[in-house]
Amino acid sequence: MCNVRRYDSESEGDLLVKVWKTADIVLIVLLVVFAGVFYFVFGLQGDSGTPGDIVVIRINGSDYSKIPLFEDNEIDIHNTSGIHINTLRIENGRAIMVYADCPDKLCVERGAVSHTGEIIVCLPNRVVVEITGRQSEYDAIVQ
Ligand SMILES: [Zn+2]
Repeated sequence: MCNVRRYDSESEGDLLVKVWKTADIVLIVLLVVFAGVFYFVFGLQGDSGTPGDIVVIRINGSDYSKIPLFEDNEIDIHNTSGIHINTLRIENGRAIMVYADCPDKLCVERGAVSHTGEIIVCLPNRVVVEITGRQSEYDAIVQ
């Protein structure tokens, strides 16, 4: 009698575990779907991982040039002495340093950047290329 009861309660317990596991799986799936939708809706407006619109070039911390990322272009960057130090190419919505007279060439090896917040740094030349999002700065360029 005692044994039978124990068996019954164990089997109820197993059933409960199964129900809970199913509920957990449903919950996890719902959370993943919800997170995906949330990410999709709000991620597009976020400030990282989103395609950028403007390329900001700075030398020594001061703005050198701002150019649209969606227009193919090639910009020769000169330092204050007029020496050609870097060349930045804009191609298919990506910015890439194609030439640098710096010794390490880390900026060239950095490859292409296209998302808001991504930067290319040429430390020896003190050149920073930063991708930024759509903002009033862009309006200033157009006007
Ligand atoms: Zn460099």
